Amino acid sequence: MENGVSDEVGYDVRAVRQDFPILGIQVHGKPLVYLDNAATSQKPQVVIDSLVHYYTRYNANVHRGIYTLSEQATAAYENARARVARFINAPSPECIIFTRNTTEAINLVRYAWGADNVRAGDEILISEMEHHSNLVPWQLLAQEQGAELRFLRVNNEGRLMLDGLDVLITEKTRLIAVTHVSNVLGTINPVKGIIKKAHKYGALVLLDAAQSVPHMPVDVQELDCDFLAFSGHKMMGPTGVGVLYAKPHLLEAMRPFMGGGSMIRKVMLAESTWADVPQKFEAGTPNIADVIALGAAVDYLSDLGMANVREHEIQITQYALDQMREVSGIKLFGPWELQTRAGVVSFVLDGVHPHDIAQILDSEAVAVRAGHHCCQPLMRRFNVPATARASFYAYTTEEEIDALLEGIHKAQRVFGHAIERSV
Ligand code: PMP
Repeated sequence: MENGVSDEVGYDVRAVRQDFPILGIQVHGKPLVYLDNAATSQKPQVVIDSLVHYYTRYNANVHRGIYTLSEQATAAYENARARVARFINAPSPECIIFTRNTTEAINLVRYAWGADNVRAGDEILISEMEHHSNLVPWQLLAQEQGAELRFLRVNNEGRLMLDGLDVLITEKTRLIAVTHVSNVLGTINPVKGIIKKAHKYGALVLLDAAQSVPHMPVDVQELDCDFLAFSGHKMMGPTGVGVLYAKPHLLEAMRPFMGGGSMIRKVMLAESTWADVPQKFEAGTPNIADVIALGAAVDYLSDLGMANVREHEIQITQYALDQMREVSGIKLFGPWELQTRAGVVSFVLDGVHPHDIAQILDSEAVAVRAGHHCCQPLMRRFNVPATARASFYAYTTEEEIDALLEGIHKAQRVFGHAIERSV
């Protein structure tokens, strides 16, 4: 790939980059190299415009006003729901609940489904590679209900050890909550098989799709998952909006999550009845502007084509791994096989703390994340306190990977010298 132009037929990464104003900025006098997409993504101009357009042209509350602006806002809000539904092939827009983020979507399931469906002695199966947001809610639920948490372990390659699945799932398993793609290892889990097996035992499956929906085609009907959670801000949309998809019959049966305006049908002094799904789960004034802008992000991604985005990320990840594995003193985490690995590369360097790697990279305008990535049990599994993590997206170029490698070599030079001086 030369001059930042992708080889893939029909996918021009240079043209894609033109759509993202922030990718043209400089940091410390150098062009920004943004490789922290697993934390949050950058936004194309159409998403930014969508926010500005809402606030400048039709800002009004939804579902209430009998006047033009409110009707416009309501139509745009519900239109975004329909587009998000289409994006993940949900059977209807009513299966889409807008939340603040993945974390809130998972907690919604914990409260609105978990309280009535998980009892003392029941089991919840999660994995060792979960983000804290798909771990802590289940710890809390298990503690409250007297249920048992069971764990799928991770092997050295960074894959779930599914041999144990038949022993771990039992007649008492109510829920398997597992990540579709690991935000640390990049592992794409074989969730379809897990879902099939869970259903045989009558257990439901919640997929944490925070790292899959933004990066690859995801079809909830094909997967047959019961719940699926993701965040708008990781898929080119604004912060403050997330999505819970759930099968319609589950949403019908679930109790409300939060009480308040908009989620009711009839309110008496002592009790109330609930609005239909999805309003039952969207109490209060929703995040109208950000939901509408998420609709714009979904349109943008659909225009790029999710298969193209995925293919581009496979090529970029291959390019990164090929170079990174040649660096002496580096340890890379996660599987090597690219068809089942996403564009996330965690690494450590001998003698250089991950935070120092991130700081040196920042001095070169390369943004990566260092830390436990909200996966402390996984850090413990690999015996590291933290890793540095580079994560890619539809706009990442090979030149940016080259800048990452230069930064890694600089970190080794700087800290190699420091180590030599201190001996
Ligand atoms: N799950 C995974 C796999 C994630 O990567 C993240 C974000 N890092 C989350 C959940 C939580 O997302 P949010 O902070 O948007 O709720």
